[in-house]
Amino acid sequence: MLNKLKYHYLIVGSGLFGATFAHLAKQKGKRCLVIDKRPHLGGNVYCENIEGINVHKYGAHIFHTSNKEVWNFVNSIVPFNRYTNSPVANYHGELYNLPFNMNTFNKLWNVKTPEEAKAKIEEQKAEAVAMLNGREPQNLEEQALTLVGKDIFEKLIREYTEKQWGRKCTELPAFIIRRLPVRMVFDNNYFNDPYQGIPIGGYNKLVEGLLNGVETKTSVDFFNSEYRNWRKYAEKLVYTGAIDEYFDYKLGKLDWRTVSFKLRVEQTPNYQGNAVVNYTSHDVPYTRVIEHKHFESFGADVYTNPQTVVSEEYSSEYRDGMEPYYPVNDERNNALAKSYRTLAADEKDVIFGGRLAEYKYYDMAPVIEKVMNYSNI
Ligand code: FAD
Ligand code: UDP
Repeated sequence: MLNKLKYHYLIVGSGLFGATFAHLAKQKGKRCLVIDKRPHLGGNVYCENIEGINVHKYGAHIFHTSNKEVWNFVNSIVPFNRYTNSPVANYHGELYNLPFNMNTFNKLWNVKTPEEAKAKIEEQKAEAVAMLNGREPQNLEEQALTLVGKDIFEKLIREYTEKQWGRKCTELPAFIIRRLPVRMVFDNNYFNDPYQGIPIGGYNKLVEGLLNGVETKTSVDFFNSEYRNWRKYAEKLVYTGAIDEYFDYKLGKLDWRTVSFKLRVEQTPNYQGNAVVNYTSHDVPYTRVIEHKHFESFGADVYTNPQTVVSEEYSSEYRDGMEPYYPVNDERNNALAKSYRTLAADEKDVIFGGRLAEYKYYDMAPVIEKVMNYSNI
């Protein structure tokens, strides 16, 4: 029943949470209005076309999942290509394959078999293991040293991590590094998931497909618009903006890490031969360089466009007016987010979802999975 209201759902935010919600609601015959404060749809997966190349404007996005239902769902909207993420690390001009695998070990130590590599890693981590003396690693440094040993920690982890997080490895939680695979095979695939790729034609195609037939408005900030009074328009609100902003920061502001990008067009068809090159030493100020065409063109096709677009990625502390990207998982912020969630639970007819509203780092596939699992859209 829609009463006299125009919409079943007013959806704040057209990122993957809002767009997937709108899509599934429409399938169930519900009327939705999606608003976004940015001048475009798609949230952080939005791509800008520059010189014929889809540029991931808010950072490189690689879709990966082990959930077949999610994979089939996104592929039913737009087919995905065969992109496989296999970043290369550059340490003072030496190149190493990631994630840590036989190619990395061979380049580092000239070992040729898994047995030799295992023996070398055991030797490399012996000192750290002895230091722990049976206790669990307490921080990222201890975890890395006991996982892969000192050479890899020094060349590929320590300075990169400190650049990325702006803190010492001894001050960061151990779990951050546990998500990187360590493989005793020659396999440079960064992810363990069985499904991976980029939408053919770019992420905007995915967002356009999800929002096909849904009413949308861009450049509309919920808080500075008539829609703030949403009950006049819709039965329910789906809110994917920042949770502290929703409550007018009344308990305090949540912190974020942010990333900024320096983008340039290079007059060469193939600048670095790979989509992602990580710079793992301190002397280079950026963490990585993305060459966007490699997400969507492969082999000889790379040379059909004589130009290329690259972006340097810089990690920094968040200040007002910047894009909030990664939640900061320290004690203060975790406790504050929890208090906001308690307030959110009391908001009648409001669904808080996605990375900003839940103050949670989400990859794309889990965001979609979460929306698919709402039983009563
Ligand atoms: P968003 O995409 O952020 O969408 C939220 C939307 O709400 C935005 O468009 C915003 O403008 C809008 N909004 C906020 N407040 C208001 C308001 N007051 N009024 C109107 N609109 C508002 N995931 C992967 O799976 N693979 C990757 O490789 C990957 N790389 C990433 C790299 C970076 C740098 C970052 C930050 C994230 C990455 N992710 C990746 C995660 C991915 O971006 C998220 O999973 C996804 O964007 C979450 O979608 P969302 O809808 O929750 O949020
Ligand atoms: N990492 C590293 N060197 C690299 C790549 C990653 O030390 O070349 C570490 C770093 O601490 C990072 C963590 O591994 O935070 C997880 O890497 P991932 O690529 O999953 O992080 P993301 O960039 O997606 O946050």
